[in-house]
Amino acid sequence: MHDLVIRNGTVVDGTGRPQFAGDVAIDRGLIAVVGRVTQRGRREIDAKDLLVTPGWVDVHTHYDGQVTWDPILAPSSWHGVTTLVMGNCGVGFAPVRRGQEDFLIELMEGVEDIPGTALHEGIDWRWESFPEYMDALAQMPRVLDVAAQVPHCAIRAGIQIMIRLPTYIN
Ligand SMILES: [Zn+2]
Repeated sequence: MHDLVIRNGTVVDGTGRPQFAGDVAIDRGLIAVVGRVTQRGRREIDAKDLLVTPGWVDVHTHYDGQVTWDPILAPSSWHGVTTLVMGNCGVGFAPVRRGQEDFLIELMEGVEDIPGTALHEGIDWRWESFPEYMDALAQMPRVLDVAAQVPHCAIRAGIQIMIRLPTYIN
């Protein structure tokens, strides 16, 4: 018996193949079956006339700040995204040197039009290195998976402060 079976949906599984009528089974929080599920579920959801979208990967996002405080990651989760990639366009919040936080927020705000006020209030800067940022992300459960790219602007900003390169390298 599966933990959850979502039946009779229109499945768009993110592999690129055409949509199909089918079911999705979930066990211990992980997708166990995509296709036709013969076993019952402890819980069952009838998805007739609904899209079921296991495996949608949003390959270009800017959740680098929001991912540190929002386990829902709306609106992507509302849209059926199951994995998102962030750190695109070179902007992000790790690595960071103390005192550099405002610069990284202003960069994100300027490049991606994400409100700096939300970032100032939401980010608690429990990290400096990128591995420490990843550890901070790992401590919070969330409704979808995230893949973080190292933002090159944060690296270059850190290098500039560390060895005092002239600003023209930006
Ligand atoms: Zn971008």
